[in-house]
Amino acid sequence: MNGGATMHELSLAHDMTRIIGNALGRKVHLDRVNITIGPLSGISPESLRFCFTEVAKIEGFGEPELVINLTRAKLICLDCDTEYEAKDFYQGCPGCGSISRRILSGREFTVDSVELEEGND
Ligand SMILES: [Zn+2]
Repeated sequence: MNGGATMHELSLAHDMTRIIGNALGRKVHLDRVNITIGPLSGISPESLRFCFTEVAKIEGFGEPELVINLTRAKLICLDCDTEYEAKDFYQGCPGCGSISRRILSGREFTVDSVELEEGND
Protein backbone atom coordinates (compact mmCIF):
# COMPACT_ATOMS: atom_id res chain seq x y z
CA MET A 1 0.00 0.00 0.00
CA ASN A 2 1.53 3.29 -1.02
CA GLY A 3 -1.08 5.56 0.57
CA GLY A 4 -1.59 7.41 -2.70
CA ALA A 5 -4.30 7.19 -5.30
CA THR A 6 -4.09 4.41 -7.83
CA MET A 7 -5.80 4.01 -11.18
CA HIS A 8 -7.79 1.18 -9.66
CA GLU A 9 -9.43 3.29 -6.96
CA LEU A 10 -9.86 6.22 -9.33
CA SER A 11 -11.74 4.03 -11.75
CA LEU A 12 -13.86 2.62 -8.90
CA ALA A 13 -14.68 6.16 -7.76
CA HIS A 14 -15.94 6.95 -11.27
CA ASP A 15 -18.01 3.76 -11.25
CA MET A 16 -19.53 4.80 -7.92
CA THR A 17 -20.61 8.24 -9.12
CA ARG A 18 -22.09 6.65 -12.25
CA ILE A 19 -24.02 4.08 -10.18
CA ILE A 20 -25.27 6.77 -7.78
CA GLY A 21 -26.19 9.14 -10.63
CA ASN A 22 -28.14 6.39 -12.39
CA ALA A 23 -29.91 5.36 -9.19
CA LEU A 24 -30.94 8.93 -8.35
CA GLY A 25 -31.69 9.91 -11.93
CA ARG A 26 -29.94 13.24 -11.45
CA LYS A 27 -26.91 14.84 -9.91
CA VAL A 28 -27.52 16.26 -6.46
CA HIS A 29 -25.30 17.19 -3.57
CA LEU A 30 -24.86 14.25 -1.23
CA ASP A 31 -24.36 14.36 2.50
CA ARG A 32 -23.11 10.83 2.95
CA VAL A 33 -22.38 7.68 0.95
CA ASN A 34 -22.28 4.27 2.68
CA ILE A 35 -20.28 1.49 1.07
CA THR A 36 -19.05 -1.98 2.00
CA ILE A 37 -15.57 -3.22 1.15
CA GLY A 38 -14.26 -6.73 1.74
CA PRO A 39 -10.63 -7.04 2.90
CA LEU A 40 -9.82 -9.34 -0.03
CA SER A 41 -11.25 -7.00 -2.67
CA GLY A 42 -7.85 -5.45 -3.33
CA ILE A 43 -9.28 -1.98 -2.69
CA SER A 44 -7.43 0.45 -0.46
CA PRO A 45 -10.13 2.21 1.60
CA GLU A 46 -8.07 5.35 2.17
CA SER A 47 -7.13 5.59 -1.49
CA LEU A 48 -10.76 5.12 -2.52
CA ARG A 49 -11.87 7.77 -0.03
CA PHE A 50 -9.37 10.22 -1.50
CA CYS A 51 -10.42 9.48 -5.10
CA PHE A 52 -14.15 9.48 -4.38
CA THR A 53 -13.98 12.85 -2.63
CA GLU A 54 -12.32 14.37 -5.68
CA VAL A 55 -14.52 12.67 -8.27
CA ALA A 56 -17.78 13.42 -6.42
CA LYS A 57 -16.90 17.11 -6.32
CA ILE A 58 -15.94 17.23 -10.02
CA GLU A 59 -19.04 15.25 -11.07
CA GLY A 60 -21.45 17.56 -9.24
CA PHE A 61 -22.27 15.51 -6.15
CA GLY A 62 -20.91 17.99 -3.64
CA GLU A 63 -18.64 16.88 -0.83
CA PRO A 64 -20.20 13.76 0.69
CA GLU A 65 -18.66 11.92 3.58
CA LEU A 66 -17.67 8.41 2.49
CA VAL A 67 -18.57 5.91 5.22
CA ILE A 68 -16.79 2.61 4.68
CA ASN A 69 -18.04 -0.58 6.27
CA LEU A 70 -14.98 -2.82 6.16
CA THR A 71 -16.02 -6.45 6.52
CA ARG A 72 -13.92 -9.38 7.65
CA ALA A 73 -13.15 -12.22 5.28
CA LYS A 74 -14.51 -15.71 5.91
CA LEU A 75 -12.14 -18.52 5.05
CA ILE A 76 -12.08 -22.25 5.48
CA CYS A 77 -8.82 -24.07 6.16
CA LEU A 78 -8.09 -26.83 3.65
CA ASP A 79 -5.84 -28.64 6.12
CA CYS A 80 -8.05 -28.86 9.23
CA ASP A 81 -11.49 -27.60 8.04
CA THR A 82 -11.58 -24.76 10.57
CA GLU A 83 -13.75 -21.86 9.43
CA TYR A 84 -12.27 -18.52 10.45
CA GLU A 85 -12.36 -14.78 9.86
CA ALA A 86 -9.44 -12.70 8.69
CA LYS A 87 -8.81 -9.02 8.14
CA ASP A 88 -6.27 -9.54 5.37
CA PHE A 89 -4.62 -12.13 3.14
CA TYR A 90 -1.76 -12.78 5.52
CA GLN A 91 -3.67 -14.17 8.44
CA GLY A 92 -3.38 -17.96 8.61
CA CYS A 93 -5.61 -20.57 10.19
CA PRO A 94 -5.96 -20.06 13.97
CA GLY A 95 -6.17 -23.84 14.42
CA CYS A 96 -3.09 -25.06 12.58
CA GLY A 97 -1.39 -21.99 11.08
CA SER A 98 -1.90 -23.15 7.51
CA ILE A 99 -2.47 -20.59 4.79
CA SER A 100 -4.03 -23.01 2.36
CA ARG A 101 -7.71 -22.15 2.44
CA ARG A 102 -10.79 -21.50 0.40
CA ILE A 103 -12.29 -18.01 0.39
CA LEU A 104 -15.98 -17.96 1.38
CA SER A 105 -16.39 -14.19 1.42
CA GLY A 106 -14.39 -10.98 1.65
CA ARG A 107 -14.25 -9.70 -1.91
CA GLU A 108 -17.37 -7.56 -1.77
CA PHE A 109 -17.62 -3.99 -2.97
CA THR A 110 -21.07 -2.43 -2.83
CA VAL A 111 -22.65 1.00 -2.63
CA ASP A 112 -25.22 0.45 0.14
CA SER A 113 -27.01 3.78 0.44
CA VAL A 114 -26.68 7.51 -0.04
CA GLU A 115 -28.04 10.40 1.97
CA LEU A 116 -28.91 13.63 0.20
CA GLU A 117 -27.94 17.01 1.52
CA GLU A 118 -30.88 18.72 3.19
CA GLY A 119 -32.94 20.95 0.96
CA ASN A 120 -32.40 18.73 -2.08
CA ASP A 121 -35.73 16.98 -2.18
ZN1 LIG B 1 -6.18 -25.15 9.83
